[in-house]
Amino acid sequence: MPGFLTKRRATVKHHTMADSGHTYDRRREEMVKRQIEARNISDPLVLEAMRRVPRHLFVSEALRHKAYEDHPLPIGAQQTISQPFIVAEMTQALELAPDDRVLEIGTGSGYQAAVLAEIVYRVYTIERLHPLYLRTRKLFDTLQYHNIVTRYSDGTMGWKEESPFDAIIVTAGAPRIPDILLSQLAVGGRMILPVGNQYTQDLIKIIRDESGWHQASLGGCRFVKLVGEEGWSES
Ligand code: SAH
Repeated sequence: MPGFLTKRRATVKHHTMADSGHTYDRRREEMVKRQIEARNISDPLVLEAMRRVPRHLFVSEALRHKAYEDHPLPIGAQQTISQPFIVAEMTQALELAPDDRVLEIGTGSGYQAAVLAEIVYRVYTIERLHPLYLRTRKLFDTLQYHNIVTRYSDGTMGWKEESPFDAIIVTAGAPRIPDILLSQLAVGGRMILPVGNQYTQDLIKIIRDESGWHQASLGGCRFVKLVGEEGWSES
């Protein structure tokens, strides 16, 4: 195993002149207590990850003061960073273990990938919009998330060379379940994705075992569109 990709990054301190890191630490702790723990997220790995990732650094400076509120926020290019609770819910549903390799479709701000990266061995994340891809790749470098591998492409095609994955998470709404992603899920793997129309979707969980793929619904949600070969068309 080459030594250049290690799972744990060095601890970075995040201080700005205007607002000390302590203020954000306190807001983040409150977010976890009120929005996450209070709504039945109990996986200790998920709770610890949500306590660690500095969510305010994944949004623009102008929105930083809202970073720990209970809703999604715009991240540019008409895309959004998901509400903290939905990130926690999807992460918990993936039933992650520390050795897992996870594929994410829809890098966006990078927040979901960072939460995953706190828990698992390696995260592979794909973004189709070049400005977002570039900006977020730089942020992962700055925050020293060395176990996140980024790619600029259409995620509905998956990432064949790195498959199969122990878990797959799609963070944009799909019109149907992409077959290619099903085939890139390991036996014993878990996949989570929103499926529905452009306004409302069902959060679908798929488990693959020796006998095949099994699907369950976790309830309603609303995501931006998954645009691609196996998703919605551009317009
Ligand atoms: N996980 C992100 C959510 C961002 S919103 C976060 O934590 O911030 C969804 C993202 O999916 C957008 O950035 C959008 O450009 C991207 N996306 C949509 N269709 C895609 C596709 N086919 N492949 C890769 N990314 C896609």
